[in-house]
Amino acid sequence: MLTRRSFLRTSGAVSAIIVAPALVRCAATTPGAAAGWRGDPFGLGVAAGDLSSDGFVLWTRLAPDPLSTDPETPGGMAGGPVPVDYEIASDPELKTIVRRGTATADPAFAYSVHAEIAGLEPGRSYWYRFIARGAESRVGRAATLPAAGTKLDRLRFGFVSCANYEHGHFAAYRHLADERPDIVLFLGDYIYEYADTRRPVVRRHSDGVEATDLRTYRNRYAQYHLDADLQRLHAVAPALVTWDDHEVQNDYADQWSQDFQEPSQFLVRRAAAYRAFYEHMPLRARSRPDGAHLRLFERYTFGDLAEISLLDGRQYRSREACYGPPNKGGGHLETNHACPERLDQRRSMLGQAQETWLYEWLGRSRARWNVIGQDVMMTELRQRNDQNELAYWTDGWDGYPVNRARLLRHLHERRVRNPVVLSGDIHSYWANDLKLDFADPRSPTVATEFVGTSITSRQPFHALLQKAARDNPHVRFFEGRLRGYATAELTPRVMTTRFRAISSEADANAAVFTVKEFTVSDGRPGVQV
Ligand code: FE
Ligand code: CA
Repeated sequence: MLTRRSFLRTSGAVSAIIVAPALVRCAATTPGAAAGWRGDPFGLGVAAGDLSSDGFVLWTRLAPDPLSTDPETPGGMAGGPVPVDYEIASDPELKTIVRRGTATADPAFAYSVHAEIAGLEPGRSYWYRFIARGAESRVGRAATLPAAGTKLDRLRFGFVSCANYEHGHFAAYRHLADERPDIVLFLGDYIYEYADTRRPVVRRHSDGVEATDLRTYRNRYAQYHLDADLQRLHAVAPALVTWDDHEVQNDYADQWSQDFQEPSQFLVRRAAAYRAFYEHMPLRARSRPDGAHLRLFERYTFGDLAEISLLDGRQYRSREACYGPPNKGGGHLETNHACPERLDQRRSMLGQAQETWLYEWLGRSRARWNVIGQDVMMTELRQRNDQNELAYWTDGWDGYPVNRARLLRHLHERRVRNPVVLSGDIHSYWANDLKLDFADPRSPTVATEFVGTSITSRQPFHALLQKAARDNPHVRFFEGRLRGYATAELTPRVMTTRFRAISSEADANAAVFTVKEFTVSDGRPGVQV
């Protein structure tokens, strides 16, 4: 029997040479106007995601006038459903087509396409493109998961978060694309809903307003997808996605908004935001929004080597601890004596259904590495408030300590093999030992956490966080001044994580360098520098 030793044999050094010319060729020959389109209908690019062992989702959105904000003609499209053909090949130059089909660009979802492909071979790369009325999209790479139980020697992936368009260029996305990862995990803040109207920015959100309805959220996603570096990353690697707050509103929690909007009103806004998210991501019909609800949490199995689960940390969480006007709508520092609610047993970050689901699969997992990708930092971070009292930030897992303790206890007691938590949100690099009892430095380390800074979003509190990091011995590394991403390489014996930073988010041509490299050894939770 053939053993596929490395996930995506074709995605390593060989494809680094082959993929590039194919992408250039197709970008140069997009017929656009020649085929009767007013502009390139595939100007928002393509993406693959939501992988299975025999297929994946292929995404695009027809938008010949991408930033058109007329709700009657989203992206410059009008009329009924549009058939969109796709071709899937076993090679990057699309010489050997293994599947042709037709999907539908649905007017109800802004003419987005979510083609669910099945029946392909497990554990390999495929290349694809779309064709609509004579116009061709660029070529993207997709991949199938290895067949269940396959022995796998290696998996390489990137994890990214917090790409504020206004705060900089997406050079970090481009450099990650150049590393040709097998897959990319998007851990939230893929867009930013607000417009930075008072501070100087590197570039502007095109409409200059905060996104609050379907029209403005669509405009935001369209502008981000127009970015050449983001497009390139989607074209070279399949995306597994979750979200954080800025896909809807800063620091929201379920139906609770940071500005104390009536929950039923805020859910109208959330429904628009979730709908626009679905329209612009490679997600299955399973994730089609139902009003203000969208099923996003999912897990992916990479043979015997890794299980990756992506959690939804926003839709089901209890509201911020000690929520209330005038200024406690979102994250804020709370002491135990002023806010005992933070420690309430009933508070939840994940919601009961998601937590039960997570424990079920962790209990069944036979993978060497159990990776949990999610939005906000999990480690406890004891901080000092203005009165120099011990305080905790309510928007991260520190706002949900009972849920965190239950999760870490579960990992410990069920002896989940090599749990690794990957997080975003906090716009800084962190490498943390997740302790069974954070109050006791001798308590066992249960899992390892890595936080991969932001693609561009600012971190104005480096000095404050650095001070806090020093007061928390389970924090093994912190750096808040750099923007970039992180990569991970898994083998049966070791996980290697690299923090990769760009020289400047203000420079579209920024260089990349390695800030720090860490390993985690099989059977030994915790960071090794
Ligand atoms: Fe962010
Ligand atoms: Ca966030």
